[in-house]
Amino acid sequence: MPEGDTVWRTAQRLHAALSGQPATLVDIRWGELGEDPLRDAGIDEVVPRGKHLLHRFDSGWTLHTHLRMEGSWRVEAAGSEAAARGLRRPDLRAAIGNAAWTTLGLRLGELNLVRRSDEHLLVGHLGPDVLGTDWDPGLVARHIVGSSTRTSIAAALLDQRVLAGVGTFWASEVLFAQRLHPWREAAGLSPEQVDTLVARVHELMVRGREHAIQSSTGIVRADARSWVHGRSGRPCRRCGQTVRVAPLGRRGADRVFFYCPGCQGGLAPTDDGRPQAPLGARRRARP
Ligand SMILES: [Zn+2]
Repeated sequence: MPEGDTVWRTAQRLHAALSGQPATLVDIRWGELGEDPLRDAGIDEVVPRGKHLLHRFDSGWTLHTHLRMEGSWRVEAAGSEAAARGLRRPDLRAAIGNAAWTTLGLRLGELNLVRRSDEHLLVGHLGPDVLGTDWDPGLVARHIVGSSTRTSIAAALLDQRVLAGVGTFWASEVLFAQRLHPWREAAGLSPEQVDTLVARVHELMVRGREHAIQSSTGIVRADARSWVHGRSGRPCRRCGQTVRVAPLGRRGADRVFFYCPGCQGGLAPTDDGRPQAPLGARRRARP
């Protein structure tokens, strides 16, 4: 799932392609939603807000999109074969373009049109954006410490009201970096632990946004991009114990979290410790 660093890079590319130009192509394919508020308008800017994207048009309207699980925005040269192919795709949800560029919103998870003055209705609930100008580590620390009892630190990091932009990749990686047990109660951390955790997630994601491929190790090779995320069943790069995966909420919850029991203080409450095969191992084992 795209996280704040990916969305930040996407916004940069869209902004470079679209800002300051009239949008000569506006094609919204989202239910009954019409393009009228955007027609013949120019684009002032494209900005990220956590995992949300805002195209701000000079007509006073904002196109709000969210990539959710597998959405993306592509930028193609206007009139190119790649742009034409993209415009024919059945999973195209929005196309915005000008004389030079065609941008294609594919498999988007969410799309809304609102007046700019009403953007808060869509993004006003978000906490400080890890990569935004509103980043406020003190406020995020207070949000974490103030989490309701039994909220795990992993769940607090993923709660976009606490801070915006973190997904399971960066949450797993930063808790590993800080040797914190993901299921530990957020409100029970010491002020020093919270402050260093908040500073570290910011540092990791600021560094991460410089790279097109998400990596916490600085290596972009597919099998070396993370310390624990996606590495269950494989040895921890730090202590050698087997990295594990467990549901984040109740047993059977759809969100899972990766961690090292050796480095992070033991098994998850829902983890029975049974051996876990490496992700994809079965597929690779087939002839
Ligand atoms: Zn370890």
